[in-house]
Amino acid sequence: MIIHVDMDAFYASVEEREDPSLRGRALIVAGRAESRGVVSAANYAARVFGIQSAMPTARAMRLCRGLIILPVRMALYAEVSRQVREIFHRFTPQVEPLSLDEAFLDTRASTRLHGPPELVARKIKQAIADELGLVASVGVAPNKFLAKLASDHDKPDGFTVISPDAVTSFLDPLPVRRLSGVGPATLSRLHALDIHTVRDVRLRDVDELQQRLGQTGLRLHELANGRDGRSVKSERESKSISHEKTFAAFVTEFDVLESVLMELTESVCERMRSIGLESRTVTLKLRDADFRTFTASRSLQAPTCSTRRVWTHVRTLLRARYRRGMAVRLVGVGVSRFEAPAGTQVELFNSRDDRRDAKIDELTDHIRSRYGADAIGRGTRFHRGE
Ligand SMILES: [Mg+2]
Repeated sequence: MIIHVDMDAFYASVEEREDPSLRGRALIVAGRAESRGVVSAANYAARVFGIQSAMPTARAMRLCRGLIILPVRMALYAEVSRQVREIFHRFTPQVEPLSLDEAFLDTRASTRLHGPPELVARKIKQAIADELGLVASVGVAPNKFLAKLASDHDKPDGFTVISPDAVTSFLDPLPVRRLSGVGPATLSRLHALDIHTVRDVRLRDVDELQQRLGQTGLRLHELANGRDGRSVKSERESKSISHEKTFAAFVTEFDVLESVLMELTESVCERMRSIGLESRTVTLKLRDADFRTFTASRSLQAPTCSTRRVWTHVRTLLRARYRRGMAVRLVGVGVSRFEAPAGTQVELFNSRDDRRDAKIDELTDHIRSRYGADAIGRGTRFHRGE
């Protein structure tokens, strides 16, 4: 059994925890409307108004009067994310983060020590609540695909176990679009074949699906039968750090992609700095509405963990890859080919080393350039709605 942990409205929940007077009020963590920023996270009170992540901030403001808008404090979220990960690592080294707020865990090798995955998942959810004051939705299921569906099933504050003998009954009634990789184009082809639910896919002849839909048909048939052979890969094993974001609705605007990628770049670089690594390769990942995945990489002359430097390469890659009108389903940023000159985190921040100080300056510059001179510091707000 695989565990998927997904923090509920993560950035927004961290902000609420930092300032309890915000609790229960509609708030978003977002880029500025004036600079075409987008929503990074919305709390549940804001979601009631139809506000979603990756929506332009200006639009979110129109949807909700009195919306509280907070700047993205990536260093804070990265620190809390590190604390969440520290909880995971008490139970297993097999942790595969997908972003700052989401990870797969495989705890099967430590069952004797910590108990079966269902119990470990409970303990993790409880520890996150008790020690960090945050809520996670947790899914436990036979593989990654199902575990992710499970964590999403009863969100927020969900805890869903799909046991092996319940896989079919869980999957069958779901609309077919819940199978990962079914975008509008594939969906209309499936509908044309009179396929509407996961059950319809499962019962279809696999050869027919392949004939009609190619590789996608094969893949959907596997998923509909609850099969997913991917294993959980820790950062150490995969020798890379990558964060990605799947959009609830397809994104076609270049500006929005740029904002989201900038945020992913920040989160990946924060992660690198927190474990004292620098990378020599930067990778961009885009997935379109038809589940075609494009990746492109650049090699750097010198290793870096600087957000600004990595961002320069991500932006160049995006400009080369993006086609007008492209409907994007997922974006990701990865770094790899690590070197570890920076030592531990403590050294990183205490060292008198000029080069490292320069890096911190650079990061500070970056934050200032993005949010204004007073953006650094606790509880700063650059805007409040009426
Ligand atoms: Mg989440």
